[in-house]
Amino acid sequence: MTAKQILMIENLVKHFPTKRGVVRAVDDISLHVSSGDTVGLVGESGSGKTTTAQCVVGIYPPTSGQISFDGSPIDVAFSRRSKELKGKIRIVFQDPGSSLNPKRTIKQILSVPLKVHGIGTPKERLSLMSHLLETVELPPGEYLYKHPQSIGGGEKQMVAIARALATNPRFVVLDEPTSALDVSVQGKIINLLMRLGDELDLTYLFITHDLSLMRNVATRVAIMYLGKLCEVARTEEFFRSPKHPYTRMLLSSIPVVTRQEESLKPEKIVSKGEIPSPVDVPPGCSFHLRCPERKGICSEADPETRAMDDGRLVRCHLYEHGAAKAGG
Ligand code: SF4
Repeated sequence: MTAKQILMIENLVKHFPTKRGVVRAVDDISLHVSSGDTVGLVGESGSGKTTTAQCVVGIYPPTSGQISFDGSPIDVAFSRRSKELKGKIRIVFQDPGSSLNPKRTIKQILSVPLKVHGIGTPKERLSLMSHLLETVELPPGEYLYKHPQSIGGGEKQMVAIARALATNPRFVVLDEPTSALDVSVQGKIINLLMRLGDELDLTYLFITHDLSLMRNVATRVAIMYLGKLCEVARTEEFFRSPKHPYTRMLLSSIPVVTRQEESLKPEKIVSKGEIPSPVDVPPGCSFHLRCPERKGICSEADPETRAMDDGRLVRCHLYEHGAAKAGG
């Protein structure tokens, strides 16, 4: 049975006018996320992945485009969204140190979403908060009355996850949830998120620059470059036979553990130069200045997104023949 599509992003554009010019942070992307999926949205710094996530949760209103949740178009601005919708779509930020108010106890922090969303009576909320802490593997007796600055980075992120879960969400945006943490606790947070995803039937949009992490975490992987999606594929197919030259370049440089992984790695591809500024996006394919496989048309025409036989989506002139044009 095909899983229901819970989040649909259609032709999303987010531009920021600045003194230096227009920053084309997100430049016409379409992405569909099915219920129960963990979609890894991967890209280098400046690729637009975090801006995409912030549009989904309503932090930024898109310049144009549409976002639908559970079959209905949703208001793009957080302030205009219904309380119910705000409870269903939650976010865990990259840095728990700045996302948790240091002046408040963990009990006060967890009580905010419960009060705002009218969950439980004042009496019931204490046990709800204890349950939330147990859910993220923190003993409530030990943590409820602590302040964030007295606990470690991993524990702070566990509290931030508990806060996100307080409203019983269905969809959670994970914005680089481990990149600000010590390596020693990153695995613990990932395992916790994956367990919670299974147990609570959550759907995740996982924003990351760490492609190797997605091998074991994501059900689908979407690669962003300069505000556009290059390739979207199921994780297995993605790692077995990457198509887009930028995807192959990223995969060729990630560390692998097993010989089997090594045998599947594309030959090392060294890119030319750095990612250009989103204020000064090159004409044609935005990757053409760095692409080792570019051809004449690449500097002139922006490729369209095409669906391949295995269902993956690729945006590259190399795959324009024999593949259907896709909406994203
Ligand atoms: Fe490279 Fe051309 Fe494909 Fe862009 S469209 S990724 S430049 S081959």
